[in-house]
Amino acid sequence: MAEPTVFERIVAREIPADIVYEDDRVIAFTDVAPKAPVHLLVVPKTAAYRNVGELAGADPQLLAHIVDVAQKLADERTGGDHRLIFNTGEDAGQTVFHVHAHVLGTGLQEGSLG
Ligand code: 5GP
Repeated sequence: MAEPTVFERIVAREIPADIVYEDDRVIAFTDVAPKAPVHLLVVPKTAAYRNVGELAGADPQLLAHIVDVAQKLADERTGGDHRLIFNTGEDAGQTVFHVHAHVLGTGLQEGSLG
């Protein structure tokens, strides 16, 4: 058996995370090393898929749900505008081989600066 990924351990509550959303299929939490003022990760609870290509081929409905949750979180936290990133492979910067979406935004909603 492969070692569980850090995201499996977060799903299992073996390590803490700042969880911002959860349902029966996905969990979302803040990235421990944020690259933007808003940096969330949306992660399927299943560890069956290493990357978005594998997920898209096997369970497109789960991929669509991840995108939907990402948009809803962005609507709440960035006014809707955001970057949605799935890294695939070490050469693209992927470090956790449990598919996940990065939601990156400024957190500056229109009018929020007064
Ligand atoms: P990747 O580079 O695989 O696309 O993204 C993995 C992300 O997971 C990185 O942005 C990294 O900062 C984040 N990360 C790694 N370990 C942990 C952790 O234990 N907790 C949280 N919240 N994020 C983590």
